[in-house]
Amino acid sequence: MNTKQTTTQIDYRLARERMVANQLVRRGIKDKRVLEAMRSLPRDRFVEEALIGEAYNDHPLPIGFRQTISQPYMVALMTESLCLQGFERVLEIGTGSGYQTALLAKLAESVYTIERIPALLDKARVLLSSLGFTNIAYKAYDGTLGWPDRAPFEAVIVTAAGPSIPAPLLDQLADGGRLVMPVGSRDGQELVKIVRKGDEYIRHRMGGCRFVNLVGLHGWKE
Ligand code: SAH
Repeated sequence: MNTKQTTTQIDYRLARERMVANQLVRRGIKDKRVLEAMRSLPRDRFVEEALIGEAYNDHPLPIGFRQTISQPYMVALMTESLCLQGFERVLEIGTGSGYQTALLAKLAESVYTIERIPALLDKARVLLSSLGFTNIAYKAYDGTLGWPDRAPFEAVIVTAAGPSIPAPLLDQLADGGRLVMPVGSRDGQELVKIVRKGDEYIRHRMGGCRFVNLVGLHGWKE
């Protein structure tokens, strides 16, 4: 290993420590497993080369195709709300860069991730397998339909915003399962968490947010 590479790696570890302390712990993220996973996951690998210097900054970044990798705090908040213990099968809609996917794969048994833009999915798949992940299944499709033949899921996460929660995703949520998704207009949304208890869906509001559009049969029409 050359000196330059070693220096770079040390810098990112420090950047990750700072991100966790200043952006996550300070704002109330408590789940030890989430904090530990974000301390070790190389977010710099999930952003475009020209933006590597901003990988640990407190905001989303463009990933091409008019899409974004979410702000670290938003990733932590949504992940924490799923209360993952390690045995869950998780459905993720909106693979994007694959950063959120990787975090889920570290914290749960397996991840089923769906992305509507095939080029983004392919890029994420190559990166995630090069990082050694083997518990992720990928699909290029309209995620608002869910993944019926792999349901039920103990956790569902949607990282794009729609006008309402797609009915197929509620159907595919296991009893006792959690779903988190931004819901609202095209310009601004609220983060919503649903907990399923039998046929009852208990709704919690988690505050304002702004995501790219969920485009599909049960989302926005383009
Ligand atoms: N978690 C990702 C977020 C990417 S942005 C990250 O942090 O990198 C949201 C993603 O949702 C985009 O890549 C977009 O193409 C995708 N998306 C939007 N509508 C979708 C749908 N109906 N099915 C699957 N993916 C969708």
